Amino acid sequence: MSPTAPASSSLELIALTKRYDHAAVAVDGIDLRIPAGSYCCLLGPSGCGKSSTLRMIAGHETVSSGDVLLAGRNITDLPAAERGTAMMFQSYALFPHLSALDNVAFSLKMRGVGTAERRAQAQDLLERVAMGHLAQRKPGELSGGQQQRVALARALITRPQVLLLDEPLSALDPFLRVQMRAELRSWQRELGLTFVHVTHSQEEAMALADQMVVMNHGRIEQAASPREVFNAPATEFVASFMGGHNVFDDAATGGRVAVRADRLALHLSADATAGQPHAHGQVCDIEYQGTYVLLGIEAGAGTGAARSIQVSLSEAEFQRQPVQPGQPVWVSWRPEQAHRLAAH
Ligand code: ADP
Ligand code: MG
Repeated sequence: MSPTAPASSSLELIALTKRYDHAAVAVDGIDLRIPAGSYCCLLGPSGCGKSSTLRMIAGHETVSSGDVLLAGRNITDLPAAERGTAMMFQSYALFPHLSALDNVAFSLKMRGVGTAERRAQAQDLLERVAMGHLAQRKPGELSGGQQQRVALARALITRPQVLLLDEPLSALDPFLRVQMRAELRSWQRELGLTFVHVTHSQEEAMALADQMVVMNHGRIEQAASPREVFNAPATEFVASFMGGHNVFDDAATGGRVAVRADRLALHLSADATAGQPHAHGQVCDIEYQGTYVLLGIEAGAGTGAARSIQVSLSEAEFQRQPVQPGQPVWVSWRPEQAHRLAAH
């Protein structure tokens, strides 16, 4: 959150609901407040309602019930062009026959802005994304990263308060994806705009978001900072979707708890668990990941653990006590490392 941005220009969703004809509810009465100038990621599996939510904010989809407020103004029924929002489309949606400059200037042309004025504004925006010198090139003469910047400039030309991005990086190769992700984040900071970015990648959301909104079946399971979501997943769904967690039954409370894979201690005998909460099983996978080693352990029956337990060890830890596939092992954790999950 930008400390200088006025609180009044935040985006608010109130009981926002989308029902498509004859279909189950796609977005199920979600409430969310996105602070002005923050980077919000809507995260969740395919079909959970992320794009429907974004399209209702953009005005590209009608709202079945509920409201969208921007800077305190109810924009629920306004046309897309009058909301103060803009959608950044993937770079392949650029017009191939137009120069970068004319691509960026396009929506001003639609709004009746004169040639000289719209070209000046488009040039100015291209400078801001370090593309001023390539303004006359056509999309086909630009690299993937350069096209993405043109797409950003094109979305910004209407001076939106909120920029909406639906899986903007998914068409890029993995190397460029990581590079563009960093660029998006730094542009957002520099422009001080509110970004709402839809992704199904928890890694992408963790890297980008001030606020991470984890969705499932049209509902919000948790909305908090990436750190809070990762360290204190609210539900079993969040813990398993985020990865890097194990879910165990908790005899003390009769509920379920999540324990981070890198918080489990690994032992070669039951005695070594020293009265701590524990589970046991057999090593089934050993994956070398560079700075750490990931062990997959098939849990023994009746241990209150999910079928498979994941343990992440530093390479040094692993080397101190190397294990082999098939070997029986015990894992333990300190009670304060177990995070209680909400009951369903
Ligand atoms: P996500 O972006 O998270 O993958 P969507 O918002 O696209 O999810 O879809 C949520 C649900 O709404 C899905 O079950 C999807 O099939 C359904 N859906 C999306 N768009 C339409 C549409 N235009 N007509 C009917 N159902 C739709
Ligand atoms: Mg989608």
